[in-house]
Amino acid sequence: MTAQNHPTYDVIISGAGPVGLFLACELALAKCSVLILEKAEDPHSTLKQLPFGIRGLSAPTIETLYRRGLLNKLEIHKRVKNPHQNAKQGAQRQVGHFAGIPFLEGNVDTSQWTYRLPGSTETSLISEMQELETVLTSRAEALGVKINRGFAITGFNQTDDGVTVQSGNQSFQSTWLVGCDGSRSIVRKLGGFEFAGTEPEFTGYTAKVDIADPEKLSPGRNVTPTGMYLQSQPGYLQIQDFDGGAFHSSEKPITLEHVQEVLRRVSNTDVTISALHIATTWTDRARQATTYRNGRILLAGDAAHIHAPLGGQGLNLGLGDAMNLGWKLAATIREKAPEGLLDSYYTERHPVGIQVLDWSRAQAAIMKPNPAAHALYAIIRDLMNTRDGATYFAGRVWGIFTHYDLGNSHPLTGHSVPNFELEEGATIGELMRDGLAILLDFNTDASLRTVADEYGDQLKYISGPAKDQLGLSAVLIRPDGIIAWASSGKPDYSELRSAAARWFA
Ligand SMILES: Cc1cc2nc3c(=O)[nH]c(=O)nc-3n(C[C@H](O)[C@H](O)[C@H](O)COP(=O)(O)OP(=O)(O)OC[C@H]3O[C@@H](n4cnc5c(N)ncnc54)[C@H](O)[C@@H]3O)c2cc1C
Repeated sequence: MTAQNHPTYDVIISGAGPVGLFLACELALAKCSVLILEKAEDPHSTLKQLPFGIRGLSAPTIETLYRRGLLNKLEIHKRVKNPHQNAKQGAQRQVGHFAGIPFLEGNVDTSQWTYRLPGSTETSLISEMQELETVLTSRAEALGVKINRGFAITGFNQTDDGVTVQSGNQSFQSTWLVGCDGSRSIVRKLGGFEFAGTEPEFTGYTAKVDIADPEKLSPGRNVTPTGMYLQSQPGYLQIQDFDGGAFHSSEKPITLEHVQEVLRRVSNTDVTISALHIATTWTDRARQATTYRNGRILLAGDAAHIHAPLGGQGLNLGLGDAMNLGWKLAATIREKAPEGLLDSYYTERHPVGIQVLDWSRAQAAIMKPNPAAHALYAIIRDLMNTRDGATYFAGRVWGIFTHYDLGNSHPLTGHSVPNFELEEGATIGELMRDGLAILLDFNTDASLRTVADEYGDQLKYISGPAKDQLGLSAVLIRPDGIIAWASSGKPDYSELRSAAARWFA
């Protein structure tokens, strides 16, 4: 089959992982035609199911899913509200960690986060990769996205007008190509992107095993002089071995003997593994593409950045990329994008990626098996046991501080919009399901409506008081839920006009 047999799509996405699927949903919501080419024939995998497939969701991801009506479709969200739920522990409950050091719920002072309203979505939840991908696949298909499974992208060629994408002997045409094809992204490798960063300190193992003498291992997460091991459930192991990432890079098979040798060394026991059912390895290699766009080719998710899964941030980072990119790329395709809109994807998301990579490097650094790292580890542990310390770490891990530098005419500019509850009933998050920008006017000011009307169907005008307005009179909200402009008193109309002109054509 040749390219002539296929329709031309607005966007081809490489990879039906969570990031590719969510991006496809955003583009299709904005009426773009999307084809996903996915290498794997079967979307199911043991590694995506619990307990391997467990993923911590941070506040921006939870808000994103809520704003598109997806949060309540996740059954696991309804079952388990908190990553480390243990009601008996009450305020002593662990609600996150840094390098394995827990911070406790009772120590986190959420009152320091001024703009979080009581009706906000949760700050952290657990999810299962398999369920998340299933929910996103259903939504993508319902929105008209075509997903071709068993189609690995093998090459592509871009011109001024579009991209021709190869999968084996088939070719497909699109105007844009987005690489959401994970850490070993072919789109990144063939697309001329530089992938700069640092080499790993350790090899991480995730394995399902039978242990003949499990009592020899301590429960919970154990940071030891040579690494870390954790038994999350009987027989489910996570190990970190500070071998410079050597085993992961060696591409040797992961045998029972090898996992046992590593576990014995790291746990300093003579524990015996009697069966190895499944195992995978990963590292703390931290690299990031130095640009996220090359002509008509873009990157998002693990294709754009990789780092250790310590504290679990990669999925959150990738879904944040997709939420940021989707409406900008759609506006570009629809010729409704002001100058520079698409490039703001990189200028906003690259710094967030830097922070996450550094967060994972910092954890790897204090977990190293040497006296200097152990000394630092002890100091960080003490700080995390203070109220301000726990609040800081929770804010970072839960993504509370994530924002973009859009200029600071108001302290909320560049931040995620608080979940205002209008007196007539709806929350602002519920009003964002159609993916449109919103001018929210608490005082029903006719001049604000006039500004909104100038942008036609790009900008929705919503007026009326909210139960708690946080002292604001009006807010301009981008389709991704980021505040583009806010006013606390009488609105400055010319400031609003220039903010609107910056984001909408
Ligand atoms: C042990 C572990 C625990 C983790 N825990 C967390 C956590 O708690 N929280 C968190 O936020 N993150 C966590 N992560 C990270 C998270 O899983 C990843 O960041 C996330 O899966 C990235 O999503 P993605 O869609 O970018 O890439 P992927 O999930 O890797 O999906 C990429 C897709 O592209 C496909 N593909 C690859 N090559 C091609 C090709 N040539 N053509 C077409 N398709 C292709 C692949 O088959 C795959 O389906 C963890 C990771 C690991 C390893």
